[in-house]
Amino acid sequence: ATPTSIMVSTGRAAELGVLFRKGESLQTLSGVTQFAFDKTGTLTEGRPRLTDIVTASGVDEDRALVLAAAVEQASEHPIARAIVTETLERGIAVPPSSHFAALPGLGAEAMVEGQSVMIGADRALAARGLDLTPFEAEARRLAAEGCTPVYLAVDGRAAAMLAVTDPIRPEAAAALAALRAQGVSLAMITGDNRVTAEAIARRLGIERVMAQVLPSGKLEAIRSLQQKGGPVAFVGDGINDAPALSAADVGIAVGTGTDVAIESADVVLLQGNPLGAARALAISRATLANIR
Ligand code: ADP
Ligand code: MG
Repeated sequence: ATPTSIMVSTGRAAELGVLFRKGESLQTLSGVTQFAFDKTGTLTEGRPRLTDIVTASGVDEDRALVLAAAVEQASEHPIARAIVTETLERGIAVPPSSHFAALPGLGAEAMVEGQSVMIGADRALAARGLDLTPFEAEARRLAAEGCTPVYLAVDGRAAAMLAVTDPIRPEAAAALAALRAQGVSLAMITGDNRVTAEAIARRLGIERVMAQVLPSGKLEAIRSLQQKGGPVAFVGDGINDAPALSAADVGIAVGTGTDVAIESADVVLLQGNPLGAARALAISRATLANIR
């Protein structure tokens, strides 16, 4: 493509809310064969709500919620915000916590009123030897519906399972259909559990799901896609995924994301609209086809 055609195309893309930060990204994007998406905050709204609480026998539901919220008030994770919001909406005061520690991609823990409290993914609690079988059937049912189950442990005992749901963005299905129509293959990379991730991927027609990926593993997930199937564009909101944005051949940040995402990205989608990803690919291919 000539410098002029690149300038014209990046200008037209900008009018559609697609910012190419460098001209050469237009060229690289035209050769991409795979699109990988972060789930939370990219394909979904990133604002989950709490939908269910199942407590172990003898555990009071409000007490479980208070302990969970006390830990989560120190966390910035979207699941944490869902739990704190629900607790406050029930008019329950959240006590302070101490010794807070985030377990990236797994959960969080802290001391609350003299009790040791942990909340997180099944694998995080199972690694501490907690027995989650009382919640297994219900958790599986909720995950198959696309909810994310997390578990609460109090003083080394499994106390509750809490499920959150994060609505799929209204434009996500159309964005993925438009990409599929352009012949690229689609993948999802997420820290969420496999059953939930597959339920959401099925609704969106994404064939390849990489689930339970730790934040530190997202870069490697991109590398493995590149090795198997050629150049990759990764679309993410930057929470946990700045390294994946950099590792991809083209990193595409959704504009509602963090500043660090925008710095790591080659392309920025304003208004956080995933349809921009399909527009970006179409524009890049049209530009490269028009070499004069
Ligand atoms: P994503 O790829 O969706 O950004 P993360 O890597 O942030 O996922 O988290 C992966 C999983 O770890 C979550 O689905 C949840 O089970 C668990 N998790 C992480 N942080 C928390 C937290 N603060 N509270 C509860 N669960 C958490
Ligand atoms: Mg995300």
